[in-house]
Amino acid sequence: MFNEQELCEIKSEFSAFEYPTPTGQPLIYLDNAATALKPRAVVDAVTQVLTQKTANIHRSVHFLGDRATECYESARTTVSYFLNCDEHEVVFLKNTTEALNLVANAFASKGKILTSMAEHHSNYLVWPERQTIRLSLNQHGQVDLSQLDEVLTAENIELISLAHVSNVTGNEIPIEEVCKVAHRHGVKVLVDAAQSAPHQSLDVETLGCDFLVFSGHKLGSPTGVGVLFGKHQLLEEMDYWLKGGATVESVSLSSHKPKNAPWRFEAGTPAIESVAGLDSALTYLMELDMDRVHDHQLALGQHARNALKEYLPQAILLGEPSSYSGPLSFYVPGVSPHLLARGVSDRYSICIRSGYHCAQPLHDTINAPASLRLSHWVYNSEQDIETAIKRIAAFSN
Ligand code: PLP
Repeated sequence: MFNEQELCEIKSEFSAFEYPTPTGQPLIYLDNAATALKPRAVVDAVTQVLTQKTANIHRSVHFLGDRATECYESARTTVSYFLNCDEHEVVFLKNTTEALNLVANAFASKGKILTSMAEHHSNYLVWPERQTIRLSLNQHGQVDLSQLDEVLTAENIELISLAHVSNVTGNEIPIEEVCKVAHRHGVKVLVDAAQSAPHQSLDVETLGCDFLVFSGHKLGSPTGVGVLFGKHQLLEEMDYWLKGGATVESVSLSSHKPKNAPWRFEAGTPAIESVAGLDSALTYLMELDMDRVHDHQLALGQHARNALKEYLPQAILLGEPSSYSGPLSFYVPGVSPHLLARGVSDRYSICIRSGYHCAQPLHDTINAPASLRLSHWVYNSEQDIETAIKRIAAFSN
């Protein structure tokens, strides 16, 4: 876990903490699973593109065009370090949702998909109902992987698509094991890493996955950029889904020649400054050291669970992850989560999320009402979590 001095330094890198809040009290931001605050390095990188590197990429033969292209492509290299993959396996898209849609439309448009009832709506709605089998949840709200081998034997599955870490319960799936079982059956695996990428080192070779997707904005980059990792062979076999400029080598009156992967999937002018911001965000995180980032997250997660038991014992936790590695969601029977979230924001400038967190099927499956979610990141402390839970407790009574 980061010590007090390190946390102070980390916090000083995030200018959001310097701006006055409506209550005049210091900001406590615990809505990181929705989106994260941005470090200065990211703001600087974006400003640099907007002031010194403004041009379109891959086309303009002038010095600004060179700078913009170099900046965009060097971000691809940084992502390839972050994921331990080849640069040609990194596709820049808008976000996790768009990346899932691309795979759904360009790779798995005909075969059967295996996913779960615990997924974010983006990894739920994207798969056509008639082609989709959903793993159920066990009594702890975890994806029941005990059925995996059986389902893969009985059904002709083309792709498994699962969240690495649930955005509601924080449960982490043993992706390496899933990939091993899947590959024994010749099935490909897509990992929705929207909630794991901000917190842990992701080595796609070790995980063994075929596709992996995440959003930049949840790990400190601006909105508007997400990543699809796909094994190069698979990307090359995939047709492009969004067509238009930047996706083709040439167009004649009767035909056109698509670019190679990954470029043929990046249709139109991309979010160049956001991609530069993503580069900086990943560099910042890797400099902090992803293993330490992960330790910090695990320690705070444990602290949050203990604090909840101590200060808000009437709260009911959603799911009991055996492998906890993400946000914490709960409800207080008889009290609206929206009133609690609004209350702690209006009175104390504490930001937490209320509702179904875009995972209504999960809530329904475990018979839970809308919930409150606390999600921490690198700048949060044990104190932040305790204060938030104590304030929620005060509002609940
Ligand atoms: N998948 C998971 C697990 C998420 O938590 C989220 C966002 O909260 C998404 C997908 C969708 O991410 P985005 O809205 O950035 O596309």
